[in-house]
Amino acid sequence: MEKIAIYPGSFDPITYGHIDIVERALEIFDKVIIAIAYHTEKQPLFSVEERLKMVKAVFKDVPNVIADSFKGLLVDYVAKTNAKVILRGLRATSDFEYEFHIASMNRSLNNHLDTIFMMTSKDYFFVSSRTIKEVARLGGTVEGLVPSIVANMLRKKFNLPYMKKKLIGWDD
Ligand code: ADP
Repeated sequence: MEKIAIYPGSFDPITYGHIDIVERALEIFDKVIIAIAYHTEKQPLFSVEERLKMVKAVFKDVPNVIADSFKGLLVDYVAKTNAKVILRGLRATSDFEYEFHIASMNRSLNNHLDTIFMMTSKDYFFVSSRTIKEVARLGGTVEGLVPSIVANMLRKKFNLPYMKKKLIGWDD
């Protein structure tokens, strides 16, 4: 049977931190479904459609990575797939408490489901969608931290001038 992992999150926007987790997960799983959550308490910068577009573009040449979105409870979404595993990334001890609560709650809602955590890479431990947005909004470089399609979408979203700084990945 195919081993499928669901990687849920906001992905607002997707970063190389997320991408690194997916690439490493593909060494273990046959397929990874990136599942963008509609309902979170966070106020998103990008619409779910925009986030999906970026994820699809990033993995356009990787057929065993599927981009999807879901509304409602994650466990209900997972039940509709053949997946038995939820995939999450851990950056710091501060992530642990939140992730531990969510994983425990999901397991209490469906005890056939497990959450697997992958530790961030040394190159991306400081990368979060939140800080990427903040740096981009203030005109700083996000080069090497997000794919160029994401850098472009950030530039457009924040109405930043073309090549405000000489930044790789910020050109059209
Ligand atoms: P959420 O809004 O559900 O926290 P995110 O899109 O922020 O979703 O992140 C999805 C998952 O990816 C989370 O488990 C998060 O900890 C993980 N993640 C985000 N950035 C990184 C990173 N740089 N390295 C490893 N894991 C990461």
